[in-house]
Amino acid sequence: MSSVLYKSVVKNFGALNVLRSLDLAVPDHKFLALLGPSGCGKTTALRILAGLDMPSAGKVFIGERDVTRLQPRDRDIAMVFQSYALYPQMTVAENISYPLWIRGTPDIERKVKIGEVAAVLEIGHLLDRRPRQLSGGQRQRVALARAIVRDPAAFLMDEPLSNLDARLRLTMRGEIKRLCQRLGATTIYVTHDQVEALTMADLVAVMHGGELQQMAPPIDIYDRPANRFVATFVGNPPMNILPVTLADNGVRAGGKIVPLERTRFFACRLAEIVEIGLRPEDCSVAQHDAPDVLPGEIYVVEPMGNETLVNVRLDGGNVSVRAGRDFRGAVGENIGVAFDAANACFFNSVGITAVH
Ligand code: ATP
Repeated sequence: MSSVLYKSVVKNFGALNVLRSLDLAVPDHKFLALLGPSGCGKTTALRILAGLDMPSAGKVFIGERDVTRLQPRDRDIAMVFQSYALYPQMTVAENISYPLWIRGTPDIERKVKIGEVAAVLEIGHLLDRRPRQLSGGQRQRVALARAIVRDPAAFLMDEPLSNLDARLRLTMRGEIKRLCQRLGATTIYVTHDQVEALTMADLVAVMHGGELQQMAPPIDIYDRPANRFVATFVGNPPMNILPVTLADNGVRAGGKIVPLERTRFFACRLAEIVEIGLRPEDCSVAQHDAPDVLPGEIYVVEPMGNETLVNVRLDGGNVSVRAGRDFRGAVGENIGVAFDAANACFFNSVGITAVH
């Protein structure tokens, strides 16, 4: 396995600038999720590493090797696609063994390797079938088997779970994570699903508009987002953003003063703060006229079984609140929103987190 490095990678498709100048370092053995909304350039970044697209400028390295100008087959990577890309006329065994056959691996060695990866992915009983005789989940396992059989320097996966139904996606999410941990595989995993990114990866790189916004372990992406985009893209329901005004030694959100220590918030930074970001779990429902609450009206109530999501209309916009499973408010009722600012984020006028 090897580290992966993008060095000032730019990609233009005609007049369209898809990657601005991507710098990204994935350490050896780490699982990196490349996360972002549709069109932000994730797949393009992956295809450049795979050698399926050439960068307009910049370089990509796998380990110490500059692979920018190498053919895909010479890069020592294995890619797993959303569509699985299995050969329909070949059996499962032939599909898995194909990369070894191309490489000229002797028959006996190939058989042993197929047996090994089929055991890891629990598809030994499917080896004589053709792809059309398999379920979506089974096809996905075959695609993974074909990737790991080569023992590549890095795995590249492009939304590999998006064609599976919700339940199977959940199962395969855990399976792929276990597999990558077991192999100690350097993996780059493209997804627009923040739950996949947070649950599977060692590191999450959030992209937006062709630019890397933040790269950090999942918990830091969630707790210490670098900017408003990351804060609101990650988390479901998303972080609530409320306007604030400056107050003595803090900020005022609605009627509530949030005191901010000057040691953490240098005076100049404090003056820049224009918004507070509050996760729904840091908000709670309260009496409409209780002190220090934001007064509002219930807009939507969504019972989830284990909890209730309550959307409350405030003066400055709507906020989501996680309430207990026994919440019984009705739409249109007056309600208060209390919040704990201990985990709050504070943003300046261009959406950069003012302090962590
Ligand atoms: P998605 O999650 O929808 O796949 P993405 O983040 O992976 O999105 P890309 O597929 O990298 O995004 O595409 C980024 C932008 O580049 C999009 O605007 C897309 O239309 C454009 N694009 C991608 N490939 C080409 C191409 N071959 N020619 C022209 N434009 C392209």
